[in-house]
Amino acid sequence: MSITVEIIKIGDDEISLKYVSKEEIYPLFGYAKGKTAVVRKDLPLSVKNFVKTHELYHCIDKKTWGGWIGQELRANLFAAVKEPLGFFVTTFLTLTSKDRLKLYIERFRKKGRSRTLDELN
Ligand SMILES: [Zn+2]
Repeated sequence: MSITVEIIKIGDDEISLKYVSKEEIYPLFGYAKGKTAVVRKDLPLSVKNFVKTHELYHCIDKKTWGGWIGQELRANLFAAVKEPLGFFVTTFLTLTSKDRLKLYIERFRKKGRSRTLDELN
């Protein structure tokens, strides 16, 4: 297991960006918890850039409307504008992966609409 950590400063926030192996978080591509963003290092570059931007956005997102779905919409929109190619490749990889589709269906079923991501992770 090897982990690469980068410290990213965004405004007043200091975020730890960790790159981890596929085995550690599969079927996730990444996740964010508090001031830590985690991204899989084996992903194609465009996907890695999209996921990194998406997870970093979660770390600085102070809005609460929409629960975790709102958090995902905001992070996806922000990252899609910055990394459009990564957005399309990530969407394609998700729609063609049974494990990732299952993950999102399970999350939706179990966690409902109102919880925040920190409560989910
Ligand atoms: Zn997210």
